[in-house]
Amino acid sequence: MTSPEWLESWSDDEGARRVRDLFTTTFTPEGAGDAEGDARPDGVWSAPGRVNLIGEHTDYNGGLALPTALPHRTYVALRRRDDDVVRLGSAQAPGELWTARLADVSPGAVSGWGAYVAGVAWALDKAGHGPAQGGGGFDAVVDSCVPFGAGLSSSAALECAVAVALDDVHGLGLAGDDAGRAALVDACVRAENEIAGAPTGGMDQAASLRCTAGHALLVDSRPGLSALESGTSVPFELAPAGLTLLVVDTRAEHSHVDGQYAERRATCERAAALLGTETLRDVDADRLDETLAALEPHDPDGVLRRRVRHVVTEIARTERFRDLVSEGRVGDVGPLMVASHTSLRDDYEVSARELDLVVDSALGAGALGARMTGGGFGGSAIALVGADDVDAVVAAVQAAFDDAGLRAPGFLLAPPSQAAGRTA
Ligand code: ADP
Ligand code: MG
Repeated sequence: MTSPEWLESWSDDEGARRVRDLFTTTFTPEGAGDAEGDARPDGVWSAPGRVNLIGEHTDYNGGLALPTALPHRTYVALRRRDDDVVRLGSAQAPGELWTARLADVSPGAVSGWGAYVAGVAWALDKAGHGPAQGGGGFDAVVDSCVPFGAGLSSSAALECAVAVALDDVHGLGLAGDDAGRAALVDACVRAENEIAGAPTGGMDQAASLRCTAGHALLVDSRPGLSALESGTSVPFELAPAGLTLLVVDTRAEHSHVDGQYAERRATCERAAALLGTETLRDVDADRLDETLAALEPHDPDGVLRRRVRHVVTEIARTERFRDLVSEGRVGDVGPLMVASHTSLRDDYEVSARELDLVVDSALGAGALGARMTGGGFGGSAIALVGADDVDAVVAAVQAAFDDAGLRAPGFLLAPPSQAAGRTA
């Protein structure tokens, strides 16, 4: 059997050392000679990726999600400039110096990974948090142990690390409390939607900026809530209960994902319009049968009703999960995770063979619960596992992938970790 590949998180010391070194090699002018001439950043900041425990495809329906921050973080070393130039390097995009002037940053005007970074500066400026002095430019480098494109939100980790860095070097004071952090969330969401051009809700950025260690964050997307009301910390302690959260990056790549997402979203909006509600959040889970009956005349093939049933039951499962962990019953959430996966697989039809394989093999090896996480069609799955059973579950998942002839997955341990902040 192939030995499992662990995707380890870095200590803050290691992350800081990596980006400081990269900053110096990237920005020290040629021929600077001695160490005195070395370029040094103003500081190092970092932000975590996230994993959603439950509450999938609910955000655009005004519903609930429950992410926690990963120990895996994106680190940024940043130094202010006096002009409005942004120069960026990334260990994940070696040899490339992404450069732009902030005056030239606007929707549709910039491309490449630097759009996520420059977009944050643009959005802060739009929200009236532009720098009090100077042109707002900066030199920065990033390095990350958050897997890319695995549904673990490397994009939010990047934006949020930059957001807390800019907040700090410009003395905005937003990262100092939860209300300010909610404002940083908004800026990061705008950066991703409007400058990077990726249509996402705000769950990823809220998790990266507002989670605390040993907690999950209940993210409420009900329209009209204030930024503060939209995020509530929920205790989520695993180690004292002898449990571990295992994340499996399936590395599956499926095409047409964006089209599928848009189609699901449009279907939900149509259902809400037919029901005369603003969003599907307004459907009472206790009256699901009546709701589905009301949709029947518009739904010859039953697809609309299955989509609605997923959304309504998933929101109810997320509330139940929140209640259980709040009562210290984290060991009892397994069946909710399994029900969530079944609903996503059969009613919402966003799972993939690889995700189903992780769930089935993990449960077969003794996991208390398992489900796909994120938008689906690939990405990652999670399993709640007794600390003593982790090796057996990992071996079972690995063997299932080997037997199926699939590309080897990556494994992460995900103790609920802390939000973005200054690292060094
Ligand atoms: P996910 O957020 O699930 O990892 P996305 O497609 O939303 O996947 O975001 C991945 C993109 O974010 C990358 O393709 C890249 O453009 C950008 N990105 C994230 N982290 C970094 C990084 N450390 N360096 C450069 N680009 C990054
Ligand atoms: Mg992303």
